[in-house]
Amino acid sequence: MKRINHHVSEELLVAYAAGALPYPFALVVATHLSMCDECRVRLAAHETMAGLIVEETAAMDVDPGLKSRVLAMLDEPAPIAPPVQGAGIFPAPLFEALNFEPPRWKHLGFGSRQSILSDDNKGSVRLLYIPAGQAVPDHGHNGLELTLVLQGAFSDSTGRFGVGDLEIANDDLEHTPIAEEGEACICLAATDASLRFNSLIPRLLQPILKI
Ligand code: ZN
Ligand code: ZN
Repeated sequence: MKRINHHVSEELLVAYAAGALPYPFALVVATHLSMCDECRVRLAAHETMAGLIVEETAAMDVDPGLKSRVLAMLDEPAPIAPPVQGAGIFPAPLFEALNFEPPRWKHLGFGSRQSILSDDNKGSVRLLYIPAGQAVPDHGHNGLELTLVLQGAFSDSTGRFGVGDLEIANDDLEHTPIAEEGEACICLAATDASLRFNSLIPRLLQPILKI
């Protein structure tokens, strides 16, 4: 497996674990998770913590034996489920979002293509196909943008992103991603629609952090 250098941020992981991410971002995070052992382990740790908090709260009035069972559970962490079947460069969560069919590409000009999976008031998520050596066309994001590389690689001022790498970009980042020479770059990219997700994240996390 190729080495992944750019991962899901802690904020995004917590929001994902809480089921609080809008669909476009949740799909990108789920797809990264299916490619990344490291982030799956981090997610499992979050879920264990969340489960502990719930069960220990319940234990106060119901079950005095619960604490030892929870502690025993800690010694035996739940196995991490292997990812289900994807197809080619499309990992399982993404292939499922494609209804188990190849993407329907629309041409954007200069050899670039896109295939929109979802586009509504929660944001949009699409596949982008960028020919080798070309710049990513203007994809008009005005808030948070997550870009996950599925094939090839791109670089911008923040670094190089290869297969499995996730770029987390805010609208204040001026970037012109350029696909690497050699192979077309295929990415899964999610952006928010009108809402400003940056200000939304702290609000989503509030009920979680309060614990
Ligand atoms: Zn990761
Ligand atoms: Zn961008």
